Amino acid sequence: MTTQTATWPEGVIARYLTVGGATVDITHDTLTAEDTEPNVSVAACGGCLAYTNREWRLRADRWDNGKVWSDEAAHAWAQSHAETCRAMPKPSA
Ligand SMILES: [Zn+2]
Repeated sequence: MTTQTATWPEGVIARYLTVGGATVDITHDTLTAEDTEPNVSVAACGGCLAYTNREWRLRADRWDNGKVWSDEAAHAWAQSHAETCRAMPKPSA
């Protein structure tokens, strides 16, 4: 079982393979429509509807404006979700 050869969607900075064969993608996004720069790390499962948002501004006092902290939190969420999610990816036609 491998999804290594598939091209990652644009903007995906990390991808975790779930036990169900789906992927959890980590991206950077904007929190609101008014935001012009990415300010949130998002981890979303392609097998089920689970996702998490980690806002950079919650740690904006840091040297990186909270980006690395948010990425780490998103990675940790993706890792633990991938270990337990058994939802299978919908076959692409
Ligand atoms: Zn899932």
